[in-house]
Amino acid sequence: LAQRVPAAQGSDELAQLTATVNEMLERLEVLFSSQRRFVADVSHELRTPLTAMRGNLELLRRTSQAAPAQIGPSLAAMEREVNRLVRMSSDLLLLAQAESGVHLRSEPVALDELVLEVVRDLAPLAQGLTLRPAIAEQVEVMGDRDRLKQALLNMAANALQHTPPGGSVTLAVACAGNHAELVVHDTGVGIDAEALPYVFERFFRADRARSRAAGGAGLGLAIVKWVAEAHAGGVNVRSTPGEGSTFTLWLPIHPPALT
Ligand code: ADP
Repeated sequence: LAQRVPAAQGSDELAQLTATVNEMLERLEVLFSSQRRFVADVSHELRTPLTAMRGNLELLRRTSQAAPAQIGPSLAAMEREVNRLVRMSSDLLLLAQAESGVHLRSEPVALDELVLEVVRDLAPLAQGLTLRPAIAEQVEVMGDRDRLKQALLNMAANALQHTPPGGSVTLAVACAGNHAELVVHDTGVGIDAEALPYVFERFFRADRARSRAAGGAGLGLAIVKWVAEAHAGGVNVRSTPGEGSTFTLWLPIHPPALT
């Protein structure tokens, strides 16, 4: 980016100013390089489904005389990729809005009702698994209901995706001091200790091949983190490979004004 300003000689004030300017330049450099990486990641993520679709289109063109039975699988593959692109664009749009400082609603949200709603919405995806709510008490926070629902849906959908048949996924809500907690616990495959610190980063996937096949672009947990922090709360994860994972999103019950 920019050259460092050479250290000034003679005056303390000037030396201090130089140090401050250099520190600002360093911070800018970090910012720019994370932006560059973001653009590179987005391009990569767009190219993969587009390449798959191009392959299928070529196949269809060459076999346009083929029987419908041959055409079906290609069309189905393209439909899957299009769905992935649509999902990714809406996730990217949401994250872009987050960065530009979009205003959250501040309305009373009954977290226990939210949990029941998400369990109902995801029940069709929970085949062979137990998906259950665990509501210790009624908990109300001030916040943005749609965004909180999206965060809970993202965590719960991940849990279902990474839990083999016979396992269970529990969505709990509870109060802990001044905080409300939404907890998603699964008895699934778990996350390796090396991957754990990165799961909330954009485009991070612990198991690329499997997560990609499942349709994710690695944006779901970045959105969860943004939603939690925009509510003056936070999110954390504990996990044991082979035993399962627990994601906890906590929110202040009486938050400062939302940004
Ligand atoms: P994705 O779109 O891949 O689901 P996320 O940001 O939601 O992206 O998750 C990032 C990665 O974290 C996933 O690809 C997966 O490797 C890992 N992960 C998230 N939730 C779980 C879970 N409950 N169990 C195991 N791994 C998980």
